[in-house]
Amino acid sequence: MKIAIVGAGIIGVTTAYELAADGHEVTVFERRGAAAEETSFANAGVVAPGYVTPWAAPGMPAKVARFLFSRHAPVRLALPLSAAEIGWMWKWWRACKPELYLANRARMQRLAFYSRARLHKLTEDLELEYDRSTGYLVMLRTDKDRRMVQPGLQVLRDAGVKFAEIDAAAARAIEPAMNPDTNFLGAIHLPEDEVGNCRQFALLLKTVAQGMGVNFEFNTTVAAFDPASPAALDVTQLGHAQQRREFNAVVVCGGVDSAALLRPLGLRVPLAPVYGYSISAPIREPLNAPRAGLMDERYKVAISRMGNRVRVAGSAEIGGSLDTKRPSAIQTLYKVLHDWFPGAAQIANTGASVQEWKGARPMLPDGPPMIGATGIPGVWINLGHGSTGWAMSCGSARAVADLMAGRAPEVDVSGLGVERLAG
Ligand SMILES: Cc1cc2nc3c(=O)[nH]c(=O)nc-3n(C[C@H](O)[C@H](O)[C@H](O)COP(=O)(O)OP(=O)(O)OC[C@H]3O[C@@H](n4cnc5c(N)ncnc54)[C@H](O)[C@@H]3O)c2cc1C
Repeated sequence: MKIAIVGAGIIGVTTAYELAADGHEVTVFERRGAAAEETSFANAGVVAPGYVTPWAAPGMPAKVARFLFSRHAPVRLALPLSAAEIGWMWKWWRACKPELYLANRARMQRLAFYSRARLHKLTEDLELEYDRSTGYLVMLRTDKDRRMVQPGLQVLRDAGVKFAEIDAAAARAIEPAMNPDTNFLGAIHLPEDEVGNCRQFALLLKTVAQGMGVNFEFNTTVAAFDPASPAALDVTQLGHAQQRREFNAVVVCGGVDSAALLRPLGLRVPLAPVYGYSISAPIREPLNAPRAGLMDERYKVAISRMGNRVRVAGSAEIGGSLDTKRPSAIQTLYKVLHDWFPGAAQIANTGASVQEWKGARPMLPDGPPMIGATGIPGVWINLGHGSTGWAMSCGSARAVADLMAGRAPEVDVSGLGVERLAG
């Protein structure tokens, strides 16, 4: 088939690769000048399938309300919210019911475990060399943090995830550069989880896909679908006139902007941008830097080793815009880095070498992504991967390619389709 993909983030690139591997003729349209320039650009890189869970969880509304008044809050509402954002929050609130949460968590974790296996297979088979390190610690500052993670540990046990509850001395043995002055209770150690550079992986896989014949058209914006001919796309390359291009099928992998593309087809996908931040800095002294990935459970901030750089990422902001960075969110990242690894990064007097970034997680209110057929002939989707799109990318892409081929995917994708739109 002649297939178009909208978007060259991690989801579009992995989808392009899988469809090319199935023998299709694939064209990817991307409005930016390169792959992974938007949300896939500088995320935390964590691949921890046991921790892939919906944000719509019992008890979350009360937590969000409490966070509104705290200085280093992991979740923020940039008030006033728009009508669309209020509608999204209403759907999110309804999805916090225990039975919905459990069903959505199971869907996401199935996909995430499958995806990690697929990520490893691609990395090995294609000999992809990107910055990655194995092992993940969830840092527990106090007994309160320890109590808060207990329900999550049961989830890990149920999913058969290898983990250990360790004390501070054992955590320091795993990450010897940890600040000796920071007192903490202990950590959860997940030896099989990892962090990896999502953007680097996307760029490598894009090159492989190009070698297989995939045509990437950058600086090219796709207009919203024309309901009269959904498998034809109106595309505009920078500096050129709009062109109509015909395909047998189109897969929408456009991150947060996918909803606007699909709206003329009558598909109302409740995607909202949930903003987050990261800072990435060169490592000043490797002996002072983390070896792998950590999550500060209190601040929900991840610290990841990315080759010669350290990346600190976190914050969830609903409302506001991508263009306006909130200084206090970035200060929280510096604070958490300083708490755990004060001498790791070259921060002072280096000016431009610290990259401060804001990205928009393409989030559906109930949690799982939406993948598969839309019910409109020729139009497929792979979108809404929220805060764990890197961790679910390779599996989602393979599943979409299987569905398009009329095969049952190796992973159970029930509950990941557009039928959720009716709810
Ligand atoms: C601070 C932060 C930390 C995160 N940490 C993690 C983590 O540790 N682990 C994890 O798994 N995930 C993490 N994520 C989430 C992850 O980054 C996203 O889920 C993932 O990048 C989404 O990928 P995507 O391809 O759907 O979107 P994007 O990367 O945004 O790609 C969509 C692409 O579509 C293009 N596009 C859109 N509309 C059009 C159009 N009309 N025409 C042409 N092109 C178009 C855009 O330019 C863009 O390049 C994090 C996110 C943030 C913000």
